Amino acid sequence: MQIIQDLSLTELEELCLSLNQPKFRAKQIFENLHLGKTLDEISNIPKTFKEELKKEYIDNPITIIDTKTGKDGTQKFLYKLYDGDIIEGVLLSYEYGYTLCVSTQVGCRMGCKFCASTLNGLIRNLSSGEILSQVLVVNRLLGGDSKTRKITNIVLMGSGEPLDNYENVVKFIRLVNAPEGINISQRNISLSTCGLVPQIKKLANENLQVILTISLHAPTDEIRKQIMPIANKYTIKQIVDAAKLYFNKTGRRVIFEYALTKGVNDTPECAKILSQLLKGFPAHINLIPLNEVKERNLLTVTRKNAYNFATTLQKLGLSASVRRTMGEDIEGACGQLRAKKLEEESA
Ligand code: SAH
Repeated sequence: MQIIQDLSLTELEELCLSLNQPKFRAKQIFENLHLGKTLDEISNIPKTFKEELKKEYIDNPITIIDTKTGKDGTQKFLYKLYDGDIIEGVLLSYEYGYTLCVSTQVGCRMGCKFCASTLNGLIRNLSSGEILSQVLVVNRLLGGDSKTRKITNIVLMGSGEPLDNYENVVKFIRLVNAPEGINISQRNISLSTCGLVPQIKKLANENLQVILTISLHAPTDEIRKQIMPIANKYTIKQIVDAAKLYFNKTGRRVIFEYALTKGVNDTPECAKILSQLLKGFPAHINLIPLNEVKERNLLTVTRKNAYNFATTLQKLGLSASVRRTMGEDIEGACGQLRAKKLEEESA
C-alpha cells in the first residue's frame, strides 16, 4: 500500500479525477494532511470517498511512541512506522522557532565508525511521505498549522544517508515546501551527506535552494578512510569539487561538518591541511566535539580543545565555529535512541 502523504497536489488531483471526484477535493485533502490530520479527521470530504481512499492508502504512516526532553529543552521523539519499524527525531528549540531533525532511512549502510545509526546496517528507505509525516506530526503536536508553523527549519540529519535515498528525499523537499501545504522555506532546510559525489552533482541541478552540509570529518583521504568507509569510493578532492559545483549552481554556501575525535583528526597539522584544502572557497566549517557512542570506541575532545581548533582554522583564513552540543543527556546523537530501544526490546 502507498502512503497518501507521498502524493503531491498534482498527483492527488489526478487521483480525485480518476475516482470521479471533483479536482478541488485534492486541495482540501492536501491542506488537511499537511496539518497532520488523518483522512477520518478531515470533515469536508464525503465519508464514502474517504473509505475508498483508505482501502488503497495508508494515512497515518507515523506515530510518536516516546518523547524525551533534555535539560536544555531539546526533545527527542521515537516514532513507529506503519510496518513496525522505529525511527527517531530531534527537536531543537531556538529563539526564531523550532528545528526538526528528520530521518531519511531506517538504519544506514554507510558504516561510519562513530555513528550509531549504522550499527545494524540499512533496513529500508523511507518514502517521501514518511519523511514529511515526521514534520507534520511534530508540528501538530506543538500546536502549529500551515499558517502558524511551529517548525520553521528542518535538518536532514537523523538516521540515514539522504542522498542514498535520492528520489524520495528530493520529493520530500518539494512536498514540504509546497505553498498549499506546510510550506517550509527551502532556504531553511539543510541536507547533510557523507559525500556521495554523483548525487551531490545531481542535486546541484535540481533547482533547489537547500543548504548542503557535507560530513567531512577529516582533512586527508587516509584519515577519512579510518572512520568513513565511503572515503574508499570518493576522494576529498572529488567532494570539494562537487561542493564548489553546488555553490556555483545554487549560490548557497556549503557547510562542512567536522566531528573532533581525539587523536584522529584534532591536531594542528589537520587544521593546516584543512585550510589548504578549503582556501578561497566560501564554505563554513562546523566543528562538533564527537558525541561518544557507547558501541564505538572513539573518544571526544574537550570543548576548550574544540575552540582552540576553531581559532587555528580562523587564523588560517577559514570560517569556522563550534556547534552547540545539544541533547547529550537524552542520546541526542544520530541513532543513539533507536539503538537503545532496540537493545531494550531484545533484552
Ligand atoms: N548521513 C548523513 C546525515 C546523518 S548524520 C551524513 O553523513 O551527513 C548527521 C551528522 O551527525 C553527520 O555530520 C554525522 O557525521 C554526524 N554524526 C553522526 N554520529 C555522530 C557522533 N557520534 N558525534 C558527532 N557527530 C556525529
